[in-house]
Amino acid sequence: MSRFWSDLTHTLSPYVPGEQPRIEGLIKLNTNESPYAPSPRVLEAVAAAASDSLRLYPDPASTALREALAAYHGLTADQVFVGNGSDEVLAHAFAALLKHEGPLKFPDISYSFYPVYARLFGIATETVPLDAAFRIRVADYDGPTGAIILPNPNAPTGMALDRAEIAELLARHADTPVVIDEAYVDFGAETAIPLIAAHPNLLVVRTMSKSRSLAGLRVGYALGHPDLIQALTRVKDSFNSYPLGRPAQAGALASIGDEAQFQADLARIIATRARMTRGLDALGFEVLPSAANFVFARHGARPGAEIAQALRDRAILVRRFDAPRIADHLRITVGTEDQTDRLLAALAEILAA
Ligand code: PMP
Repeated sequence: MSRFWSDLTHTLSPYVPGEQPRIEGLIKLNTNESPYAPSPRVLEAVAAAASDSLRLYPDPASTALREALAAYHGLTADQVFVGNGSDEVLAHAFAALLKHEGPLKFPDISYSFYPVYARLFGIATETVPLDAAFRIRVADYDGPTGAIILPNPNAPTGMALDRAEIAELLARHADTPVVIDEAYVDFGAETAIPLIAAHPNLLVVRTMSKSRSLAGLRVGYALGHPDLIQALTRVKDSFNSYPLGRPAQAGALASIGDEAQFQADLARIIATRARMTRGLDALGFEVLPSAANFVFARHGARPGAEIAQALRDRAILVRRFDAPRIADHLRITVGTEDQTDRLLAALAEILAA
């Protein structure tokens, strides 16, 4: 606290990211990173971009990357916006699209950055409770609504809506901006991208951090009607002309070019998720059905905080949220096969004690 702070700074309640500690031999299952290395093509492209050209500013519009993303998703470049991680894209969406007369609605159990952005940008919010089975119910978003944002699959539950449910949400709110945050969609949910053509109010936000193993590169993007993209671009160009450096633009472009490794890594993570779910189930956990690269699980008999601490003592990090209804749940990232074996063995030992 300081007398030099602005009034706004005093009102903020910042997001707390998962820890990134330096512990020898750590099994890090707390921030939903990929356990697999990025494509070698990405590493080559990033290395090639680390050249004399770093003297020069990058393309402020990331044109080559936006064109490649447009082609990949069957859209046009004016339907694509890129930013420094999807967190930055989301922040711009809050500023550009989500502040209206009515409240911004999102699930009560969801990505904890949403209320942080709402506060930063002075947006009134209304949280909509998940149902008893931790599902999002589209009909619950009826009533006066300024805008809607939700992750699909939801985080931290991992549970997904199908495309028909997103279409229903869009139909019920045709005059309201709707942002679908698809950070985890590649791990088994249906994307809303095919709905963009018929719904000028839909913005789909994506990240390369999870399914493309590029959390360290900081590349996210948004897809939607050119008018929505223009709104994001206006905010971006009022904030930072060059959000993506040359290595990030080159690396992201190369990632889109390696579909084979992308699909192979997804298949491995999805298979490991199934095995991890069976293992947790056998140990007495209730595991929500996950379409993401993490599972959300609660043990019937032991407090979540105790299990998380006992795992930490064994150099295994998982994420827990001290929030109503989910304080005993653990969000566990799907790691490698070996990490999963070690997680399950550690849990068996902890629960036997
Ligand atoms: N959306 C959701 C739902 C997330 O969990 C995350 C990761 N914390 C993000 C967006 C942001 O990811 P990034 O900024 O790495 O693209």
